[in-house]
Amino acid sequence: VDTSPPGECIFCRLAAREIPAALVFEDDQTLAFMDIGQVTPGHVLVATRRHAATLTDVTPEEAAAVMQTAHRVARAVQAAFDPPGLTLLQANGAVGGQTVGHFHMHVVPRHADDGIALTWPRK
Ligand code: 5GP
Ligand code: ZN
Repeated sequence: VDTSPPGECIFCRLAAREIPAALVFEDDQTLAFMDIGQVTPGHVLVATRRHAATLTDVTPEEAAAVMQTAHRVARAVQAAFDPPGLTLLQANGAVGGQTVGHFHMHVVPRHADDGIALTWPRK
């Protein structure tokens, strides 16, 4: 996990407009932008505006605001890309799959045979 101090955190810098991003939506508590590594077309990240590392570091209000923005983004992605499925993913800690240490949620359009392992392992 990238545990840069807030001043150097990539998503803080993005929120501060210090680095460019394809911003999709923003409000007082959240921002949504295209993931730089599009796992599938329309892959969006929803992050808190305030720096916090993981789910247990954000306030209940921030957690709710991120989900509300993810819902808004999901509807926009559905309208724009019409994928047959959508997977939301939110990783915490390196062993939880987190690589950027600033709280965020993925909204990933899904297609048959897209080859992405983003579902709970089942037999
Ligand atoms: P995580 O693995 O922490 O759940 O997700 C981090 C995500 O951030 C990755 O999907 C990666 O592609 C994305 N990412 C990393 N750096 C940047 C960046 O500078 N800009 C954008 N838009 N996405 C980034
Ligand atoms: Zn940050």
